[in-house]
Amino acid sequence: MLLGETMATVARRNAAGRDAGPGEATAAALVPSRPSLPRLREAAAGCRACPLWERGTQTVFGEGAARSDVLLVGEQPGDKEDLAGKPFVGPAGQLLDRALEAAGIDRRRTYVTNVVKHFKWEPRGKRRIHKKPDAREIRACLPWLAAEIAAVQPEIVVCLGATAAQALLGGSFRVTRDRGRLVASPLAPRTLATVHPASILRMPDEASRQAELSRFIDDLAAAARALG
Ligand code: SF4
Repeated sequence: MLLGETMATVARRNAAGRDAGPGEATAAALVPSRPSLPRLREAAAGCRACPLWERGTQTVFGEGAARSDVLLVGEQPGDKEDLAGKPFVGPAGQLLDRALEAAGIDRRRTYVTNVVKHFKWEPRGKRRIHKKPDAREIRACLPWLAAEIAAVQPEIVVCLGATAAQALLGGSFRVTRDRGRLVASPLAPRTLATVHPASILRMPDEASRQAELSRFIDDLAAAARALG
């Protein structure tokens, strides 16, 4: 399944103000016709297009300036994001902020969001453990991301991690092979993928964390250079 193609189709249809295709009908039906970011956020708050709304505290919509140059897409909100109702506010988000600064990207010129807007988790004792969204949940949620991209019109889309990269660029995309490289896509004038900052935090020791952080900053610096 090429979700990148689905994404492109949804983006084109939303930009044209028409309904999305059958696979995305439920969420697409909620997307207002002439969507501004505040209207989209308001509409997404009531989304029940897939079962994830039942376990998440709230919809975690994207945040950032309405006309950001850089739109960064992760997989889904985590535990802290779910509680706060804001994307990238936990440890991975703080690492992302530091890496953006090191790469020379002004955080105020970015918009951050996720492919899936509800936190998917399973209980382990008293903890809520992240669970990867499946293809159906990703497909159900794509109309929101398509509408965000259409509203923000970024110069560059940066996919953070394999889930975002494969959802937007196709199942054959490999972050390990293609990270840090500009790739053609219908999403924005430029698209690039790198790892998710959470994967850096999961590295087993400080030396590998630092090495991965350095590669992550290099990838973001490539995005900064592409902006000119
Ligand atoms: S994850 Fe996305 S599609 Fe599913 S209920 Fe939440 S906002 Fe709707």
